[in-house]
This record gives sequence, C-alpha cells and structure tokens, in this order.
Amino acid sequence: QMIFQDPFASLNPRMRVEQIVGEAAVIHGLIRRSERRDYVADLLTRVGLNADVMSRYPHQFSGGQRQRVGIARALALKPRLIVCDEAISALDVSIQAQVLNLFEDLRQEFGFAYLFISHDLGAVEHIADRVAIMYLGRLVEIGTADEVFENPRHPYTRALLAEAPRLDRRGHSFTPIKGEIPSPLNPPPGCAFHPRCPLATAACKARVPDLREGRDGRRTACILEQEEVA
Ligand code: SF4
Repeated sequence: QMIFQDPFASLNPRMRVEQIVGEAAVIHGLIRRSERRDYVADLLTRVGLNADVMSRYPHQFSGGQRQRVGIARALALKPRLIVCDEAISALDVSIQAQVLNLFEDLRQEFGFAYLFISHDLGAVEHIADRVAIMYLGRLVEIGTADEVFENPRHPYTRALLAEAPRLDRRGHSFTPIKGEIPSPLNPPPGCAFHPRCPLATAACKARVPDLREGRDGRRTACILEQEEVA
C-alpha cells in the first residue's frame, strides 16, 4: 500500500471517508459490503480518529486528520509493506511528530514494514532501521540507521548530515554543498557527485562507482572508499 505526500490531493473529494477507507477491502474480498461500516470504524479508531467522521468528506478535515484517513486507507488491505512518499512533509511540524509516532505505533501493532522516502533527515533517523541515501537517482550509501547517522562514509552523506539542523548546534551557520545539482537527464561523467565532492580525484571522473561493500561491510558507491579497502 501507499501513503502519499499530499493528503488532500490523494483523497477523492467526492467520496465519504467510509467509502475511501473501506472500498478496496470490499473489492478485494477481505470483508462483505455489509461489514464495511464496522471495519472502517475500527480502522479510524486505530489511527486516532473518531468513528463518527466516516460520513464526512475530505474537505471537512484538517491536514493531519486527512493524512490519518490516508493511513487508515492503507491499513485496510492488511499490507506487509507500506510505501510512504514524503508522507509527513506537507503537514505542520507539530502534526508531523504526531503522525510519525502513529507510524511507529502501527508498525509495532501490525508488524509491517515501511519504505519511508523523505528529505527530512530528523524524521528518517527517528523512524528508520536501515537507511539508503540517494544522489541524482542512484543509491550512494546503505547501512543501518546508527551506522549512517553516526559514521557516514560517502562524501555526499557526510555533507548532508554535517548541515542537518540540530538543537544542540545553535549559532552554527549553514554551509551549502558547493555547486548546483546537475540535471539527471545529463549527469556528469563518472561519479555524478564529482563536480561537488571535496575529495574528487581524476579517477572519479573516469568511471561510475558501483554500490559495493567497503570497510566493515559498509556499502557505498565511492571510489575512494573502495580503494581504501582494496
Ligand atoms: S567517487 Fe570520488 S567524487 Fe564520488 S563521492 Fe567518492 S571521492 Fe567523491
């Protein structure tokens, strides 16, 4: 199942919540139509909404409530994997924390996995067991959340984490990664990060680094990391 970035655009404005949340379960044969009302009421309660709201339309909710409706819709088919595509980025910051905590509670209750796609490193650190960092459409580093956040290996990951906002870094001035993000349609030759990488050498322009195991079994797509282990 999928939870989308924009909770308003991803809900049909002409359907009531009962139909939005329960219709797929009827179509897939998980429940009979006569059971839909009770099934939806249970799901709404699990995501922190009152069962009475099932007769409302999406425009009658706040952004956080709408996202909870989207989460209930995803749960309705008893998924084993839920793809969350920037699922909290359109919400107010205070609501983001509530929805993140809801994600965690539901994972513990139902035992499914999330593929959580986000630019928000704080949210990723909070929720993820394993983290994959992408640059220009390619994976550049994979590891456990502790490995990646405490000891990043790829120069792009290091630069990202060095400038992530943190409460314990008051007064720290932001230093952006130098240069512009190239077009994915016309990526630079070799390592796509080389025009912006402070460690780039001539070899980095000559070949595209694969995602490979380096020191301690950590996987990065960086020639420098791979040479150090060779
Ligand atoms: S391969 Fe070279 S340019 Fe790319 S991240 Fe590693 S050191 Fe930097």
